[in-house]
Amino acid sequence: MSELLSTSKLSKRYGKKFALHDADIHIPQGEIYGLIGRNGAGKTTLLKLINSQITATSGEIHLKGQKMRFGVPTIRIGALVESPGLYPDCSARENLVYKAIALGHNKPGYIDRLLSIVELSDTGKKKAKQFSLGMKQRLSIALALVDDPELLILDEPINGMDPQGIKDIREMLVKINREMGATILISSHILDELAKFATRYGIIKDGKVLREFTREQLEQENRSDIRIESPQIEQIEAALREGMAFTRMQRQGDNTLLVQEGVERHEQVSRLLFDKGLYVSQFYVRHESLEDYFMGLTGGTVQ
Ligand code: ATP
Repeated sequence: MSELLSTSKLSKRYGKKFALHDADIHIPQGEIYGLIGRNGAGKTTLLKLINSQITATSGEIHLKGQKMRFGVPTIRIGALVESPGLYPDCSARENLVYKAIALGHNKPGYIDRLLSIVELSDTGKKKAKQFSLGMKQRLSIALALVDDPELLILDEPINGMDPQGIKDIREMLVKINREMGATILISSHILDELAKFATRYGIIKDGKVLREFTREQLEQENRSDIRIESPQIEQIEAALREGMAFTRMQRQGDNTLLVQEGVERHEQVSRLLFDKGLYVSQFYVRHESLEDYFMGLTGGTVQ
């Protein structure tokens, strides 16, 4: 898959402090890229640089392999970074029509399609200021889509929303990605929410991009294991080697065994130990969440 956007040693310094330091990210076309970091990590700074809302201290942004000049992107970019720019006294449709006029867009049916994709088709004359937080957020995203962007940039769009609102936005973004073909760059500190739909991730901390990985890599690294405690741990290890053909097992101390494979067959494992008459004092199946994984990388709390 070709790269739609990449940054190379991108930095932004305010006084002596780097808000972003030598950041390299790579976003292939068609992906949903989740930029994950706690508050103050540098997410908004990176998004504003890509959206030409601020200038870089150093480094480069490449769009489809070509160096971007400040304010002159060679692809269509739609963004929701800090200012939603809604007209509070106008309806959803009016908001979209005014923006389309300002951008010189008059593709027939496009506003209807946007209203439908963000599920605001039936809001009629209701003014934006009367909308719920979720509706306002969906309208703001529709406004970012008026230019039919190849890249949609969203800064913490699910912040402060209730679980239903978060689910609606998530489903909507997947639709925008699949049906409109937009590549999406979305920032969040709600890690497990991004895990449900992002296809690639970048972890940012203290202005540095620590690592990028794909969903497949995350799933592989997302370690799950079975932890068994028993005074007969040697026999248990032998029984699992023989009866389940397990090889990825690790002893911890004298009476604990971590089984790092076959987690989905945990019922079979416990049945085997029971049938062999082996005494087990504790048996846990552990799943590491994205949040735990992230904490492991950054060391500390998320927020
Ligand atoms: P949040 O979720 O809190 O918005 P963030 O990851 O988006 O966090 P940024 O807003 O990019 O973080 O900020 C990164 C760092 O740069 C922070 O320490 C912030 O205080 C600092 N910073 C951002 N903008 C400015 C500015 N205009 N002047 C001085 N410092 C700034």
